[in-house]
Amino acid sequence: MNILVTGGAGYIGSHTCVALLEAGHSVIVADNLNNSKAETIDKIKQITNTEITFYQIDVTDETAVGAIFSQHEINGVIHFAGLKAVGESVEKPLEYYCNNLVSTMVLAKACQKYNVSRFVFSSSAAVYGDNTVPFVETMNLLPTTNPYGETKAMCERILTDIVKVNPAFSVSLLRYFNPVGAHESGLIGEAPNGIPNNLMPYVTQVAKGKLKKLKVFGNDYPTVDGTGVRDYIHVVDVAEGHVAALDHLMGGVHIYNLGTGRGTSVLELVSAFAEATEIKVPYEIADRRPGDIASCYADASKAKRELGWVAKRDIVAMCRDAWRFENKLL
Ligand code: NAD
Ligand code: UDP
Repeated sequence: MNILVTGGAGYIGSHTCVALLEAGHSVIVADNLNNSKAETIDKIKQITNTEITFYQIDVTDETAVGAIFSQHEINGVIHFAGLKAVGESVEKPLEYYCNNLVSTMVLAKACQKYNVSRFVFSSSAAVYGDNTVPFVETMNLLPTTNPYGETKAMCERILTDIVKVNPAFSVSLLRYFNPVGAHESGLIGEAPNGIPNNLMPYVTQVAKGKLKKLKVFGNDYPTVDGTGVRDYIHVVDVAEGHVAALDHLMGGVHIYNLGTGRGTSVLELVSAFAEATEIKVPYEIADRRPGDIASCYADASKAKRELGWVAKRDIVAMCRDAWRFENKLL
């Protein structure tokens, strides 16, 4: 199939382009490079030895999006393009609502106009709010604590409403847990601007000596060792989940958790990193981070049952691959 990948120069999008090309699909990337670099497109070509078409456009721009749909026969859209920094979304709510909602609506409109029936959307475990773990797709969603999470819940509703009146339009809502790691080539991965907010890039930068010490945000949560528990999932597993979701789209809305089903605490991740790299990352216990929940992990059984997809790579592999990528960064 010919797949339009929005945000394809980004972290998860670039790995998904590789997985799509390896599965025999063709890829057209639309990305404004707001949080990525054009050279990632060359890295995707280098890894797969395959050409891809790249448009540097903003996917909130209806005219620019329409031009792509009119020039290519598109069979499906995977929509990654979005702003994703939780803290920033509290500071800049309007930017987040405009970018994340308008892009989704513009793309859905183009799909209607050009009879494209397959749409895969990047949602997030954030939509579950502080539910009881493990999170199951059938749970009532709870309010999230920030505009970023709200944009994901709203986009899910918008796409669901469109399907209600257009049953041939087929949508997969993929709720990612905590994607980490990098492609095993070390050529693509996550390179956040400035000081990382997320745990894994923070850990790799401390190990590299770019940052002094990890701050562990809270050790008094009701978890195995008091530190926050998350469902870290290798980004290549997440990418493969998209290929599986795309292959199984056949009318209606389908929601899937993309997680491993296993929770890992902050201190367990630090130990796994030491096992993978033989580096003991220095850390200190700090206050809880506002807005954090104690535990977040998936019930991953639906994706296994319906898509035949399971996450294959363990936490040590995630640390090893994140570290390899950190070492290839300039
Ligand atoms: P990323 O920032 O690396 O990639 C997003 C890409 O979209 C970037 O290349 C950026 O330049 C592009 N982009 C943003 N707005 C755009 C616009 N209006 N037009 C064109 N391009 C635009 O982020 P990521 O980690 O790869 O995340 C991809 C998607 O998955 C996002 O929607 C994010 O919210 C969602 N998600 C990510 C995580 C995570 O932990 N990384 C977790 C849950 C959900
Ligand atoms: N965390 C931490 N120190 C950091 C960054 C994160 O202790 O510098 C903790 C955080 O409190 C949470 C876990 O690591 O329990 C994962 O945080 P991350 O921001 O990576 O993911 P999210 O909280 O968005 O799921």
